Amino acid sequence: MQSRVALVTGGTGGIGTSIVQRLAKMGHKVATNYRDEAKGRAWQAQMKELGIDVAIASGDVSSPEQAEALIRGVESQLGPVDILVNNAGITRDSTFHRMTSQQWSEVIATNLNSCFNVTRPVIEGMRERKWGRIVQISSINGQKGQYGQANYAAAKAGMHGFTISLAQENAKFGITVNTVSPGYIGTDMVMAVPEDVRNKIVAQIPTGRLGTPDEIAYAVGFFIPDEASWITGANLSANGGQYMGW
Ligand code: NDP
Repeated sequence: MQSRVALVTGGTGGIGTSIVQRLAKMGHKVATNYRDEAKGRAWQAQMKELGIDVAIASGDVSSPEQAEALIRGVESQLGPVDILVNNAGITRDSTFHRMTSQQWSEVIATNLNSCFNVTRPVIEGMRERKWGRIVQISSINGQKGQYGQANYAAAKAGMHGFTISLAQENAKFGITVNTVSPGYIGTDMVMAVPEDVRNKIVAQIPTGRLGTPDEIAYAVGFFIPDEASWITGANLSANGGQYMGW
């Protein structure tokens, strides 16, 4: 397959790092964002030691202005973005009756508004070039809901509505838009959950274990090749069998 330019938001995180590595191994030129430059450069150096060159550019994806600057920063280093993985995300858990407006807004802005902020500056170029791949990293909790995560579940379910609308609008332009919905993956986000709660979660997973970031990266990689051009508007669950609905 032709080498393309790929941007993975939140590429320095647990799942993002695996997606970056997978796309690079597939032969693509890969970029990600950082918010803290020193942290971003240190991560970039780690990737370099593994033989993976990653372009990095500053950008908080919850801000439309910073997201646009991020795209300009990536394009100036690698050229126009052909593959976009909207992966950056956060949790701010609380039962709804205790949830603050800030917890709600931060999660919606980072997980959902970011899809608008980052996709909007790249979509016209993809349409002009008649090729594009856009993948949202949603969550099992956007499919089934989760106690203490009304904000996160709303944002993650919203990502899928975004996916299926964009898929319809852009199918004629060679652009596919899909969602990957991971179950519980052993990254910092999940390891921060108290051990007794984590054990209860694992007990609900038919495979009997947490997933790995590489298993999510594999699901993302599935949507990228030219052979996947018929697959658009799909939601691929990668959750060890924990939830088998849409
Ligand atoms: P991590 O916390 O390990 O990584 C999150 C990444 O997103 C980091 O690179 C972080 O950068 C970046 N990020 C956060 N907020 C912003 C922002 N405002 N602007 C730019 N970048 C930002 O999380 P995971 O790797 O576990 O999760 C990745 C995605 O997968 C998320 O969308 C998450 O919701 C989803 N997911 C994760 C699951 C899991 O079990 N881990 C399960 C289901 C879905 P920084 O270092 O600057 O904070």
